[in-house]
Amino acid sequence: MQLHLFDQLPAGFLEAEPETLHTCLPGPSLIRIEGEASPPLFVSTLLHGNETSGFYAIRDLLRKYSEEKRPLPRKLILFLGNIAAAEKNLRHLPDQADFNRIWSGKHYPEHHLAEQVLKLAHDEPLFACIDIHNTTGKNPLFACINRLDPHSIHLAEMFTSTLVYFNRPAEVLSRAFSNFCPSIVLEGGRSHSPAGTRTVAEFLEKVLHLTEIPDAPNGGSPPAIYHSVARIHVPEDSRISFNKECVQKDFCFVEDLEAMNFKEIPENTLLGWRHNPAMNLSIIDEKGREVESRYIRYVENEIRLKQGVVPSMFTSLITAVHQDCLGYFMEPYQIPDPSLT
Ligand SMILES: [Zn+2]
Repeated sequence: MQLHLFDQLPAGFLEAEPETLHTCLPGPSLIRIEGEASPPLFVSTLLHGNETSGFYAIRDLLRKYSEEKRPLPRKLILFLGNIAAAEKNLRHLPDQADFNRIWSGKHYPEHHLAEQVLKLAHDEPLFACIDIHNTTGKNPLFACINRLDPHSIHLAEMFTSTLVYFNRPAEVLSRAFSNFCPSIVLEGGRSHSPAGTRTVAEFLEKVLHLTEIPDAPNGGSPPAIYHSVARIHVPEDSRISFNKECVQKDFCFVEDLEAMNFKEIPENTLLGWRHNPAMNLSIIDEKGREVESRYIRYVENEIRLKQGVVPSMFTSLITAVHQDCLGYFMEPYQIPDPSLT
């Protein structure tokens, strides 16, 4: 899969919508945009074609600077990932790999795309990397980090005081970039939320104005950092629903599952019902091990928590559950180095 390179914004970009972006970008594209300070800020978005806040935020910001005929305060390298899926408002097309699972490994054609981007990114110093996503379920705005270095923490903290530290999935863009520059993920709430887009745009403009990334906290209360410890999957061929009456399905989950996101959920809480005892949920820890029995207890057909957890990204969108996962379990994380808090 080919990466397209641009030295300036292609014609039509500032008027495009995610669905029409393919008319000015023939596919995954890296666009260099001039600005006053170096090194450039790397911003990635539309790795998932139906997560549009990052695109709208960056387009609105570039429109503003273009209308005011001002250069950006810092150079920018913009990576726009899955243009073909954005046209169809899908996470990825059925025959494509997930563009945020291709940043290590070699088996998909899309791995070649990630290699080209990483090679170019390696060739010059970067100020930081910001990858922008949306969640399908109800979540607060939050930021993710893959390393607990002060620069990544404090950059993320400029966006929100809710941070998630994770190492699985390991094949994500932010983790690959965290090997050579401060790297964060913004989760801008649900796609098409104007408030989320505005917050992302304001944050990007603030970062473009920074002369350096703070290595001390910004004075407010310390961020809440959660460590994402396990990912919950349903069996590939299972039929699921989010309504108790769905006895013909293999699994039914409680209707308000998403309301549990980022809350401390006690042991024994009911998550749903299993109507097909031949199937189990799969819960994978940070080391890739199956740990379902550590978290889940089946009481007759009820699915109950065996220990207290803080869930995140629980979603009741059935296609998202099958394409990605049902959600994550997290634990509050204490930063070991007191100088970081
Ligand atoms: Zn995403």
